[in-house]
Order: sequence, then C-alpha cells, then structure tokens
Amino acid sequence: MKNLLLCLAALAGSAQTRDEKVARAVDAIRDKLVETRRDLHMHPELSNREERTSRVVAERLRALGFDDVKTGVARHGVVATLKGGRPGPLIAVRADMDALPIQENNNVPYKSRNAGVKHACGHDAHVTIQLGVAEVLSRMRAEIPGVIRFVFQPAEEGAPQGEEGGAPLMIREGVLDNPRPKAIFGLHVGAQERVGRVSYASGPLLASTDAFAVIVDGKVTHGAYPHTGIDPIPIAAEIIQAFQTIRRRVIANQPIVLTIGQIHGGTRNNILAGQVRMEGTLRTLDEGVREQVKSLMKQMTAGIAQANGTGARMEWFDAGNPVTFNDPALVSKAVPSLQRILGVANVNRAEPQMGGEDFAYYQKVIPGFFYFLGVGNPDKGITAMQHTQDFDIDEDALAIGVKAQIAVLLDYLEREKQN
Ligand SMILES: [Zn+2]
Repeated sequence: MKNLLLCLAALAGSAQTRDEKVARAVDAIRDKLVETRRDLHMHPELSNREERTSRVVAERLRALGFDDVKTGVARHGVVATLKGGRPGPLIAVRADMDALPIQENNNVPYKSRNAGVKHACGHDAHVTIQLGVAEVLSRMRAEIPGVIRFVFQPAEEGAPQGEEGGAPLMIREGVLDNPRPKAIFGLHVGAQERVGRVSYASGPLLASTDAFAVIVDGKVTHGAYPHTGIDPIPIAAEIIQAFQTIRRRVIANQPIVLTIGQIHGGTRNNILAGQVRMEGTLRTLDEGVREQVKSLMKQMTAGIAQANGTGARMEWFDAGNPVTFNDPALVSKAVPSLQRILGVANVNRAEPQMGGEDFAYYQKVIPGFFYFLGVGNPDKGITAMQHTQDFDIDEDALAIGVKAQIAVLLDYLEREKQN
C-alpha cells in the first residue's frame, strides 16, 4: 500500500514536472503560434483547395524531423508520425485545414488576402495548435511512450459538388490503418466559450447532418382548370406539415431538427407547376433516431403523393456526417487531464449541439474525443459567431490549446503504455 502511494505520488510528481516543462516550451513559442495563425488567416483556402496550407504544414513537420510526412492524402491532407523514444501505443490527433466562402469584414493586420474566402470557422487556429503540439512534442521525443500520428485534414466543411473529400476520404485512403490507432483526439474552437475554458460532452456532442431533396411530380395545366392536371404545390405543403409531425413519432427526449431550407416550383401565377423541389437538412443526436426519421420521411413522401394521385421521391445528398460521439470511457480519462491544465472550473460539460463535424467518421472506426476550446472574449469585443464575416479569436487560446492537447495526448500514452 505504501509502495502504491509512493508510486502514485511519483506519477503525479512526474506529470507535474512534465506539465511545467511543456508550459515553458509552449510559452517560448507563443509569438510563433500567433504568427502562424495570422499567416494562415491571411491565406485561407476553400475545401479541397488547401494547397498552400498543406505545403506550409508539410514543410514545418519536415523541419521538425518527423519520421514520415505523407502529403496528398485525400487531395491536400498531410499525415505524419512522431515516434516516441519509449514503447507504447499509437494514437492519432486531427486538425482540419479549410476555410469558408465568406468575405472577411474585420479590419485587422492579418485580414484575409483572398477575396471572398475567410477562416470563419477557426480552422486556422486548429492547424496552428496542432503544429504547436508537433513542435513541442518533437523536442520531447525521447520521453514519449508511444507513437502519435498527426492528421491534417482537408475539406471538413464539405467537398465541392461532384468531388469527394474530408474525413471519409482520409479514412478510405488509410489514415486509420497500418496500424490502427487506439484512439483519436481533436478540438474545435468555440466562439461562445470564453478563452481559458473548454467544454466537452460524454456521448453525443454534435449532430448527424443529412441533406435531402423531396421532388413532387405535377402535371402542368391552366390554373383555372386544376382538375385537368396535378397540382404539386398543395401536395408539397402537405409533406412539409407531415414532416413536422415526425417529432411525435420519435421518443421525446431525442432532439430532431428537420428544416426545409428551400422550395422551388412553378412558372406563373395561373399555371399549375410541373414539379416542386424542396431541399432541407436533418439533424439528430442518435444513429437509430437518424435512421428512423429518414425512413418516416420516405414513407410520408410516398404515401402523401400516392393519396394525391401522383409520384414523389426523396434524394439524400452525399452521405451526411454521423453523430459526433465521444467515447464515454475515453472522456472520463481525458477530462482530468484538461482539469489539471486549465483548472476544474474552466472545464465544463457542453450541451450537445445540432451542428455537425466530420470528425464523427473517425469515431465510427475508433474511440475518439472531441472538445470545444474557448476563443471568445467579450472584454476584447471578440464575440462574433463562427461562419460570420466578423468572426475572430482571442489568440491567447492558441497556447492554451497546445497545452491542453499535449496533456490529453501524453496522459493517454502514459496510462495505456502497459496495455
Ligand atoms: Zn469548423
């Protein structure tokens, strides 16, 4: 017992000295982190077009002496390995790299130089933080018990129409193979969270995201003689109403968002439309509910069309994101690491949100932990939401993110090195 206590004390002691060492190393690269983030922010690139970003990442990793830096994974993805000096498991850490088609509104020295393109979701911060983690850990190589695969992923926001990309393509190109990592970690900046804080959820964190279209067939005729044609507009209205009753068919404690975002049909006030096309998004926090709702939508669409003497069909666009589901066992072990670095009061539970993340695809293959890093700061006027032209981050979050992520990764490796 006494030995065990001594052993625990030694472990806690060594984590403490390691934390101090990491903190010093991170503080020493603070300016570099800000510089990197600003450089990336000034040169944002759209999904599947991350050529420069990918080049910057690969050059940095090579300069840090990474063992193999693979480029061109899922187009512009970069995957690199850091082999620790002590035996231990393989884990992965992921950052996404793409920007959004939004015009930057902020008059800052690091304003986007690409017209109409902006890092409005904070992926510039994700890349910066992960490069910071790579830099600090590459200097501590000898003491790392295991191997870390660094994954820099393109096209999280979705590949352009007709292209593949993002996490599913990375997985298909083997990012989780040869050998398979035991776990994967990632973070996302959060505009509504104050800098210095993080939040997490055990189980579902972000929603499944499915985009769909409903097409209702009509028969064109004179608007004064509807009985000689088929009017798809009231039929479309019936389908919209019916979709909202799906809420009543699914157990009440399961959230569903079913939004129709656009309707198109018809050519003139006194002509029956030949067709109505509606498009929308479905969000759920449970894969079973997701399938249930999808099948109810299909059934209702077909049934309502049939009752009105016409045809209708549903189309599901490119496979939507699964639910971002944090493995509860992994969460319970990672949270104390965050608490140690940030203080217990700064690590909070997040309510699951109906936004989506393609990190979810990795979590379908291996256990994963994804959390939110606070970047907002009302005192500095940094309050704009992500995906807006005003979005910005408190750059103090960069060093905090590096420290937090390193603690999560190294604690995992230390814990699992025997298994
Ligand atoms: Zn994002």
